[in-house]
Amino acid sequence: MSVSPPTDPLLVPTTDTAGYVDIDDDTPADEAAERTRAWVLEHVPAAWRDAAPGGAAAIRAVRSRADYEAWYPVFGASGLVAPTWPRPYGGLGVSGSVARAIEAELRPYNLGRLNPLGLNLAAPALFAHGTEEQRLRFLPRIVRAEELWCQLFSEPGAGSDLASLATRAERDGDEWVVTGQKVWTTWAHLSHFGVLLARTTPDEPKRRGITYFLVDLHQPGVEVRPLRHITGDIDFNEVFLDATRVPDAYRVGEVGQGWKVANATLSGERQMVSGSGSGGVDRIGGSGATRLVTAARDRSVRGLPGGWDDPVVRQQIVRLYSEERIRGWTNDRIRAGLKAGRAPGPESSVGKVHQGGLNQRIQLLATDLLGPDAMAWEAGPLEAPTAVDAYCESLPYVIEGMLRSRANTIEGGTTEVNRNIIGERVLGLPREPDPWQDAPWRDVPRS
Ligand SMILES: Cc1cc2nc3c(=O)[nH]c(=O)nc-3n(C[C@H](O)[C@H](O)[C@H](O)COP(=O)(O)OP(=O)(O)OC[C@H]3O[C@@H](n4cnc5c(N)ncnc54)[C@H](O)[C@@H]3O)c2cc1C
Repeated sequence: MSVSPPTDPLLVPTTDTAGYVDIDDDTPADEAAERTRAWVLEHVPAAWRDAAPGGAAAIRAVRSRADYEAWYPVFGASGLVAPTWPRPYGGLGVSGSVARAIEAELRPYNLGRLNPLGLNLAAPALFAHGTEEQRLRFLPRIVRAEELWCQLFSEPGAGSDLASLATRAERDGDEWVVTGQKVWTTWAHLSHFGVLLARTTPDEPKRRGITYFLVDLHQPGVEVRPLRHITGDIDFNEVFLDATRVPDAYRVGEVGQGWKVANATLSGERQMVSGSGSGGVDRIGGSGATRLVTAARDRSVRGLPGGWDDPVVRQQIVRLYSEERIRGWTNDRIRAGLKAGRAPGPESSVGKVHQGGLNQRIQLLATDLLGPDAMAWEAGPLEAPTAVDAYCESLPYVIEGMLRSRANTIEGGTTEVNRNIIGERVLGLPREPDPWQDAPWRDVPRS
């Protein structure tokens, strides 16, 4: 992948609104819902619409990932992907209540957002700290998934203690020259751009010498090496930056203020992984492979022990069900705060800590319900199960979910570190001692 970086850093914005649904900030909620229904009828393929009453699994049976990606430009151009965003940025400029009415119409069709890291990690930083030129340049292309994004924060020696990062950026005229290594970079192998933290003033204490950049990954000086995780999939990567050029126009916020900008991204990330951005998925009742009620019933129907008839299993399911409801209410509170105009804050750490552990417990019980079958399974490409009663046939899918969930308490900041945030910023406990806090970064010992 060696494409030259753009010569005009702030490309002409995408102004084409031809595909927009006919909804704007004057449209009342009921009217917006009706126009969304009409849009669905006109633009969502009939086979997907017909499958919708059967839920996500039934839709997946008629809609492959490739189908969805090929169709996505229609959705991306409609303004419906991020309806509350202003129109020039690719949204419809509607209020939260109208957006909720729109979302309720779209939900049955399971129209997932491509480019989640662009929408949830890059965009909050651009909204909070970007220039108008940067927003116009990047946000519409994020909405349309024309440019996919990743997050270049973690390094081999800087994960939980992210502020100790060592990737350097040095000014060279209108550009910056970046050298260093990032790691665990989800979807870097698919992305066009990354949000990057780099050290610009090593003589400052660690949090003050960092600057936030937007990096074009399709250029010489960027090498992406895939890493395989426990499920066998490739999702994340090492990224080596060797004299990578970044135009100063791609700097977000002031030089040395990157830590402040990064907090917008990190809050957005915690909300995304806690499910508070979307409201989450129901994994306990209803249909589908990891839906525990279905799985337990299925076991009993087949006359196997440890199913729905077992009081301990029922108790476990009800406990997880209660926790899932609490998680949903916590997320509702976070969303309500955001809609009321409050900046994302440490409360997203509460959701993040709870969701990480809860998903692991749900996935583990789903695997337990497979009994001895869970000990060995056929390797091969994983397909989501397609029928409600296909729990046993969906064995690799359930196990993949259980294995993948081990990362839930690490990604987006570990549970331990988020507990520190809750202790300090929510409960008002004393800060964790850091003897190097005010020392110049270059003097701080690093692993
Ligand atoms: C699936 C996945 C995807 C990821 N995607 C990305 C990505 O796209 N971009 C990106 O930049 N990063 C990404 N990460 C990296 C992730 O943010 C880090 O793994 C995480 O912040 C922890 O850092 P670390 O791995 O260096 O662990 P360390 O920081 O070395 O932590 C090791 C252990 O020590 C504990 N610990 C550390 N400090 C403290 C403390 N002060 N108090 C108590 N306990 C502590 C931790 O909780 C952990 O158990 C991803 C990680 C995973 C697992």
